[in-house]
Amino acid sequence: MALRKLVAGNWKMHGLSSDLNEIRAIAAAARDFSEIDVVLCVPAILIERAVRTVPGFPIGGQDVHHAEKGAHTGCTSALMLHDAGATLTIVGHSERRDAQRESNEEIKAKAEAALAAGLDVILCVGESLEARGRGDAIATVAGQLGGSLPSVIAGETKLAVAYEPIWAIGTGKIPTIVEIGEMHAAIRDTLRDRYGERGELIRILYGGSVKPSNAAEIFAIADVDGALVGGASLKTVDFMPIVAAASARAAS
Ligand code: PEP
Repeated sequence: MALRKLVAGNWKMHGLSSDLNEIRAIAAAARDFSEIDVVLCVPAILIERAVRTVPGFPIGGQDVHHAEKGAHTGCTSALMLHDAGATLTIVGHSERRDAQRESNEEIKAKAEAALAAGLDVILCVGESLEARGRGDAIATVAGQLGGSLPSVIAGETKLAVAYEPIWAIGTGKIPTIVEIGEMHAAIRDTLRDRYGERGELIRILYGGSVKPSNAAEIFAIADVDGALVGGASLKTVDFMPIVAAASARAAS
């Protein structure tokens, strides 16, 4: 079944007040593509200003703490993101799994906290270059999903999984079309095993060096229901051709 495509921009640690104009431009351009979902995940401190700048356009965060509140200096809870106007959050990005040593268990708790707070969730998984070299890519991702998928999902569109091979992020390299297809099919199997029919309705995004030049061929792969886009989401001129490619695929 073809799911409504989702193209999410991950601005990472980029974004000042002066970039609100870019968010305004992206939101305005995205209005032409109402048959797909487009969201920008910006730094937590920019969320409220972004929401005020582009009312009605979905703005997301990039991480949440798993606790509702408490003695966690410097952290942001899911309720805080929701309160600031975010509709979604990323959890388990490989940059956080690595730099903040986030475990699957912690990521699962974050995903569950975000869903409970009313946020949609993009849960990231992906193998290292070493794991792919050993032929362990699919087993690695299955292990990450096994440990980090939320126990229960209430609404089918609330959770998305992003397959982001670590070695493809920000490098300009991507897996082959066959490798992406194999991984997305394996993720779909895992989601079906875990959630039954509801697993069919969870969008599986590809992320890692998605660009205007490769977006169309990536969106043509079975079970690629959208993309998580880093560097190319920072500028309207780069992001919109990717959004347009997803839209063209949705219409085909
Ligand atoms: C990301 O960090 O989620 C990502 C996909 O980055 P890039 O598109 O820059 O590879």
